[in-house]
Amino acid sequence: MNTILRRTLTTLGVLVFSLSATHIHAQDNIVFWPDADYDPAIPTVKEVLGYNSGERVTWHRDAVRYFEALAKAAPERVSISRYAESWEGRELIYVAISSPENMARIDAIKDGMQRLADPRKTTRSEAREIIKNQPAVTWLSYGVHGNEISSTDAAMLTAYHLLASRGDPRVADIMKNTVVVIDPMQNPDGRDRFIHQYEMAEGLLPDDDGISAEQNEPWPGGRTNHYLFDMNRDWFIMTQPETIGRVRILQEWYPVAFVDAHEMGSNSTYYFAPEAIPFNPHLAADQRASLELFGKTNAHWFDTFGLDYFTREVFDAFYPGYGASWPSYFGSIAMTYEQASSRGLAIRQANGNVMTYAFTVRNHFITSLGTAETTAANREKFLTDFYDYRASAIKEGESDSIRSYILPPQADQAAVNKLAGLLVSQGIEVGRANSSFDACGNSYAAGTLVINTAQPAKRFIRTLMDVNVPMEEDFIAEQERRRAKNLADEIYDVTAWSLPLMMNVRADSCYRSIDESFTAVGPELVQAGVVSGKGETVAYLVPWGTAPAVRLLVNAMRKDITVKSSDLAFTHSGNRYPAGTLIISSAGNPGNLAEIMAELTAITGANAVAVDNSWVTDGPSFGSFNVGQFNQPKVAIAWDIPTSAYSAGNTRFIIERQFDLPVTAIRTSELVNSDLGRYQVLILPQSGYGPGYNDILGKKGTANLKDWVAKGGVLIGLGNANRYLADPNIDFLAIRRENAVIGAGKDKDASAASKPKGDKPADVTVKGSYLEDNAAYQTSITPAKDQPDPVAGVLVKANVDPDHWLGAGVAAKLNVLIRGSDIYTPLKSDKGVNVAVFSGADELLASGYIWEQNRKQLAYKPFVVVQPSGKGYVIGFTQDPNVRAYLDGLNLIFMNAILRGSAHAQPVH
Ligand SMILES: [Zn+2]
Repeated sequence: MNTILRRTLTTLGVLVFSLSATHIHAQDNIVFWPDADYDPAIPTVKEVLGYNSGERVTWHRDAVRYFEALAKAAPERVSISRYAESWEGRELIYVAISSPENMARIDAIKDGMQRLADPRKTTRSEAREIIKNQPAVTWLSYGVHGNEISSTDAAMLTAYHLLASRGDPRVADIMKNTVVVIDPMQNPDGRDRFIHQYEMAEGLLPDDDGISAEQNEPWPGGRTNHYLFDMNRDWFIMTQPETIGRVRILQEWYPVAFVDAHEMGSNSTYYFAPEAIPFNPHLAADQRASLELFGKTNAHWFDTFGLDYFTREVFDAFYPGYGASWPSYFGSIAMTYEQASSRGLAIRQANGNVMTYAFTVRNHFITSLGTAETTAANREKFLTDFYDYRASAIKEGESDSIRSYILPPQADQAAVNKLAGLLVSQGIEVGRANSSFDACGNSYAAGTLVINTAQPAKRFIRTLMDVNVPMEEDFIAEQERRRAKNLADEIYDVTAWSLPLMMNVRADSCYRSIDESFTAVGPELVQAGVVSGKGETVAYLVPWGTAPAVRLLVNAMRKDITVKSSDLAFTHSGNRYPAGTLIISSAGNPGNLAEIMAELTAITGANAVAVDNSWVTDGPSFGSFNVGQFNQPKVAIAWDIPTSAYSAGNTRFIIERQFDLPVTAIRTSELVNSDLGRYQVLILPQSGYGPGYNDILGKKGTANLKDWVAKGGVLIGLGNANRYLADPNIDFLAIRRENAVIGAGKDKDASAASKPKGDKPADVTVKGSYLEDNAAYQTSITPAKDQPDPVAGVLVKANVDPDHWLGAGVAAKLNVLIRGSDIYTPLKSDKGVNVAVFSGADELLASGYIWEQNRKQLAYKPFVVVQPSGKGYVIGFTQDPNVRAYLDGLNLIFMNAILRGSAHAQPVH
């Protein structure tokens, strides 16, 4: 959940909770399924783990142990598979459950889905034959957010019920007509982190007070994985090993129904599909209709048990990176279920009722079974819909306005290759043209990548590749209406995610398909680089401007190779090399440099050119004062309060796992007094809600940081960390955060004039006025606002200054994700340089929906500023470039700040 939603739910809660009181009382002895007759040969949770479901929050290792016990007791009906390993080494498993007959032919069942998935190879009548004898797969995934705890225990109960129930026709139907796949724990690192903190705080009795230590998770909380990612945003960008594993296995199985079980605020009830608007326009109408079938079954059981729920009001699936949206694009019916969280064994809700863990476990258990029941009852329909979805996608792709995407060879080919690999990993077919061709008015060289839309994944292609995916006009009009009334908007997440924009890759759309000879592109994200050139090598040149070149630099420094770099472009042997190009001379480096370079290019994907002389025909020579030497910087990042866990963790991930540079995480409070002399770079990530940097660092910490920067430190602030850096009382950066523009639809109200000034008392009355129409009345009730309205998330363009070292090798235009309301004044030229500046208002918006006032106010305001200070630098990124580690197009300017910033500053000691 995000804060906008939390606000919405709080409002909603007032209405809902007073009604739900009667049902929440009797929770002491939860009967999970009344009148069930269970086979004693199937072990219960109590028999294996020593407690009843809902009495403890089950650890990862114990959940795995329980599923292993089930598999041992009923090997002919259960199989366990490992699909990934978390960063902290915990195994991720899925558990398939079905009748012995179905389990004996699992491979044939998977094969049947593969055949249904490609209507180009499987005719309709063949599909009908397959469907006759094909169980449908229900996929139940639990606990992607580690502190949303009830679902994993519900997963164990669901498996037990399916295996142990005797004489239950519903269970028999599920086992006969479906395979139920349970992914009991999508985020084991986050879950165990939660349990560890929870159990540390436990006392004599479970505490139900929301402010108790048990109920209040310390930073960073259990929601995220090890690198503090929200993995429920990661599906299409696949940065984390857990996500990569899931994307792979789902395409092996192609479940017709997919549930992602979550928890929401404790004062809520239960949410299930159908979902809220906006609906992604690239999805099929029958998917939306099928959501109702699941909703109605769940509603039936909630009525039977006397439980409250809601649908539709929140939780849309517009963004394609959720668990409840990504499977929709291969043709599944994907849904999120949300249980109000007990955040432990019990919580006292706002209405005074105590909600127990067992109660929350039971509710996810009820809907889990209801979901499998719905799939069983609609087996044939859902399988037919799946085939039809894939068939109609091809048909749409044959007549759409966009029938192909074309990615010509370009300077940052590594980004093109990564984009293609990402698409292929998600079931999209990409071809590499074997010869040159003309299309839509352009000529394309051999090697150009092509994605024709006439394929089963057509809807996903459009969703990921289109510049913009529009929200319904009614929905937007409603958001503008709400904003005019000062109500929070209902936009749940970012409104822009176009992969070519985020990766800064040129992707041309064309109205016709490209029928050339292609070689299929594979799922690799990085292609091995090579060393070209021959003769006695004087130096190796590595053109700057790609992620592989950055990785090569870092890995070379870690091997103590001396690397120099030119701040300006130059020409050598008729080839032009961009600013930032690495120069690795044979002189002064080990004798086996050729061997090392061959290894580094292969591993990192960078290409190097071996040159046999140093003669530069234009631009600086290798010994110029415009050529500097790198030293491997020691990089630190502020950690813990007040940082946003996402920003801190995702930034550390990018530096460590995408660029191989180790980062020291330092709790912010340690920065107050510690000697930072060992570090050349300190990053201040976005701050979270609650205290800001100044609250933690205070005067003493600020003085400590200023002293360190003066000696040569490079201080980098991300996003709202610039509120601290630009605070006039602190003044690391001479930029200032702007208020909303007065007269831009938010005039100050008259009462502002009556504030006391000095000795003069406030007026007790204000100047009279006529409110002549409704517009004047609306203005009169609009409070004066200090800040621009927050933006949910849009991509805007920024222009890069090519003359500054921070812009070396960086594309001339960047696409930046804007979120929130922070806008800063530009830096005056006597203080430093605005290295990247947002485009003018007319060209600003690249993708998504932005408020008119923000669009105008952002124009020509800074995205990246650098201000020299003593022997060091302060660098501000006014928006976090590392969000979700999915803005690849911003990686280079961020890594320039670390690597070139420290090379240009004086060593701290
Ligand atoms: Zn969640």
